[in-house]
Amino acid sequence: MATYEFITSNPEQTGEFAGRLAGMLQENDILTLEGGLGAGKTTFTKGLAKGLGVKRNVNSPTFTIIKEYQGRLPLYHMDVYRLDDSFEDLGFDEYFDGGGVTVVEWAHLIKDQLPEERLAVTIMRVSEEERKIILEPSGERYEMLCKEIFE
Ligand code: ADP
Ligand code: MG
Repeated sequence: MATYEFITSNPEQTGEFAGRLAGMLQENDILTLEGGLGAGKTTFTKGLAKGLGVKRNVNSPTFTIIKEYQGRLPLYHMDVYRLDDSFEDLGFDEYFDGGGVTVVEWAHLIKDQLPEERLAVTIMRVSEEERKIILEPSGERYEMLCKEIFE
């Protein structure tokens, strides 16, 4: 399966890339976000939110697993890092089919509950300010999306 890579040199570029992607998203699109602490997952999500026209500040709250924001499409931001029981079903499906865009940070922790078709985004730290953003589409919808953003 094809993967796509994009290098950014600072947080702003990561945000801009996510914002550009946001412009191409449709209802019920699902993105997973992987990368170590400080890789830039939340930075990416903030850019995505901005691109979706979300006005509120997006953060990674300490005690909340799912946060919902209003934009051109609703944004469901999940950070499942603190889920201690990964088999716990918190009704994620209602979000996946909820008519918005779902972004899941640390998605591997709920791997079995994710839809098969999704766009996997992995952010790798290259240096202090450089990041490699890897897009790995599963399913036709996301393959098309990747081709669109990289053409
Ligand atoms: P995560 O959610 O993956 O833990 P954050 O987005 O909260 O990561 O933090 C990423 C940190 O790395 C921020 O302090 C940000 O300023 C910094 N940073 C430096 N260069 C980049 C870059 N190219 N892209 C994203 N973040 C970067
Ligand atoms: Mg984060």
